[in-house]
Amino acid sequence: MKALVFEYNIPKYLLTGALARKWPRILTTDLAPARVREIEEPRLPGPEWVKIRPRLSGFCGSDLSIVLCRESLTLAPFASYPFVIGHEVCGEVAEVGEEVKGFRPGDRVTVMPMLGCPQRGIHPPCEMCAQGRFQLCENFTEGNLPAGMFAGSTAEIPGYISEVGLAHVSQLYLVPDGVSDENAVLTEPFATTLHMVLGNRLQPGETVLVFGCGVMGLCTIAALRALHPDVRILAAEIDPFHSRLAREMGAEEVIRPGGKEFYRKVAELTGAKMHTPLLVDPLLIGGVDRVFDAVGNTQTVHASLRILKNGGFYNLLGIGEPKRIDWTPVWLKELTLRGIYGYQVEEWEGERTHTFALALRLFAEGKVDLSRLVTHRFRLEEYPRALEVALNKGKHQAIKVTFMP
Ligand SMILES: [Zn+2]
Ligand SMILES: [Zn+2]
Repeated sequence: MKALVFEYNIPKYLLTGALARKWPRILTTDLAPARVREIEEPRLPGPEWVKIRPRLSGFCGSDLSIVLCRESLTLAPFASYPFVIGHEVCGEVAEVGEEVKGFRPGDRVTVMPMLGCPQRGIHPPCEMCAQGRFQLCENFTEGNLPAGMFAGSTAEIPGYISEVGLAHVSQLYLVPDGVSDENAVLTEPFATTLHMVLGNRLQPGETVLVFGCGVMGLCTIAALRALHPDVRILAAEIDPFHSRLAREMGAEEVIRPGGKEFYRKVAELTGAKMHTPLLVDPLLIGGVDRVFDAVGNTQTVHASLRILKNGGFYNLLGIGEPKRIDWTPVWLKELTLRGIYGYQVEEWEGERTHTFALALRLFAEGKVDLSRLVTHRFRLEEYPRALEVALNKGKHQAIKVTFMP
């Protein structure tokens, strides 16, 4: 079968990482650790597993970091190689193990990709999995599977940018009939933003700012609109196409980040007082209640801390590489900083439900429709073209790049 495979090879990794931005063609040569190639179709690793035939597979920003060899080296112990990339999927069940109940070949499903204690055959589960927080499993390197946090970073459990992927029955969610493949493939990124919004316990009338209006920023706006229609949403984005979508999806204003003008505009919209110290950027007192940072680079972290009101909340969702941050506003304004990763069993309207189930329910009830975010579809053999689009999203008016394996 054909699949996008990542092989860890230190010289190739360092070379590709150093050259990819300036010479992206290296990414489609034999020097690149990630390549589309023929591999053997996987066998079911146990009786509770199924094979998935993807209909639509998302290419995530984190997949792009892997391909570009720019992923944080801190994550290396939590993966095993070679692995098939891809953790966002709408697919069909192709084959079921003997002990699989509730799913049959042909069922249209999406997959919660985390490979925690339940998928690794670990009993009793770790403290985090016992609470339904599978994304924080303490056993990603243990049990009867190779090391890896999710399908798409784990040897022997192929992810979904592939003709065939694998999933444990506990990872499957049936896609309701009225939900499009496009919405279903976005369940994973959307669930991450739902998880972030749910963790904030927003109050009516708050003003929040979403930094970056790519897939994650736009999903955040959709999650805010669906769960908290009474919250005022500002956004920060440079690209005109992404800004327009942010406005259409519910952002009241989209502000261009960068320079003093950004701070002035946020101050004007929130009624904050802007202080302008010598030599450094302005600082607001009385700015936004919360920031959802879907970029996470030095500039966005820096600016977010300065525009938050006293006692405000900063949410780090993006996977940039922030360096040299001025942390003064954190203590000066008693800010709370929170990292966001994945999805879990949540509390919502007095009910305990997994974020994936809530996301699919919001799609099915027509409260959220993200299908327009799937702007590009490619065959696996068109991988070089898909990469070119993913690297130049503004130019191609691209949001979510997908494959039809
Ligand atoms: Zn992702
Ligand atoms: Zn666990």
